[in-house]
Amino acid sequence: MKKIFTSLFILAILFACKSKVNTTSNDLTSNSEIIKKYANTINTADVKEHVYALASDAFEGRQTGERGQKMAAEYLVNQYKSFGISGINGSDNYYQYIPVDSLNKRSKNPSENVIAFIEGTENPNEILVISSHYDHEGIKNEKVYNGADDNASGTTAVLEIAQAFATAKKEGYGTKRSILFMNFTGEEKGLLGSKYFSNNPVYPLKNMVAGLNIDMIGRIGKERDPSDDNYVYVIGADRLSTELHEINEKANATYTHLELDYKFNALDDPNKFYNRSDHYNLAKNNIPIIFYFNGTHADYHKPTDTADKINLELLTKRAQLVFYTAWEIANRKDRLVVDKGSVLAHN
Ligand SMILES: [Zn+2]
Repeated sequence: MKKIFTSLFILAILFACKSKVNTTSNDLTSNSEIIKKYANTINTADVKEHVYALASDAFEGRQTGERGQKMAAEYLVNQYKSFGISGINGSDNYYQYIPVDSLNKRSKNPSENVIAFIEGTENPNEILVISSHYDHEGIKNEKVYNGADDNASGTTAVLEIAQAFATAKKEGYGTKRSILFMNFTGEEKGLLGSKYFSNNPVYPLKNMVAGLNIDMIGRIGKERDPSDDNYVYVIGADRLSTELHEINEKANATYTHLELDYKFNALDDPNKFYNRSDHYNLAKNNIPIIFYFNGTHADYHKPTDTADKINLELLTKRAQLVFYTAWEIANRKDRLVVDKGSVLAHN
């Protein structure tokens, strides 16, 4: 999650001035044992392994363009390879290179989005996007900003969901539509990786049926009861497509039974979270999105956002919700209908 800098920056200036498959019945409810089997491959043991690896000191806070970010990228690529998932356009290249010029002087080195692709069995040109950012704040004052919740948690979820879909495909339950798994760089610098992708989309944006973006799902936010670990904030689901909202609701009611909290989906919410993570760069191109989020907390953007504080069971369950929603979008008979006005009209 990107911090809001603009208003703080203006305040600072003011102060400175002043002082100076294979079947046709793969939808959510008709094949529930099969779907559950693959959802349950998303488990706390795997989740723990990825969160602890991505948020380890070895990855040096994964700052865009720096060594730790590149090590994390390599970790992600190795995972996709081990799941048997190909890279861009079915190749063995998983990197979308972003030149320094496109990083707004926020990095002295180029950086990389990591992209993996599972081809659909019936409508391969229709693509569901499942995304997270994997960069974070790096090392400051000799302290590693591990970014376990922000956003090793979401990146872990994307890996686990990818593995579940890859396993399903191997066993004859490949999704009808294609799925594009993306781990963006440069998010903390201003959504730069997803912005670059939306300007250089690798696959046509008009073919992207929806985007499910996961940014911070391993903790309990400060506005929630600390003992209540059965919720997720859902943001954006109904803004472009009524169907998308309904699918997510149905997936949850059928399988995961989380409380779906829409507090931050209010159009007048001052936090403007809808504009503050990578999904926004898809939504502005009229691609319906859902942003899954746990809210901010005392360790947000602090070196204390560490892996030991992650609620592994909660992260697992939230990732399973994304999987179930994705399953329906990728397997339903018809492409999602975009029935609402442009996102730009709401901002
Ligand atoms: Zn962040």
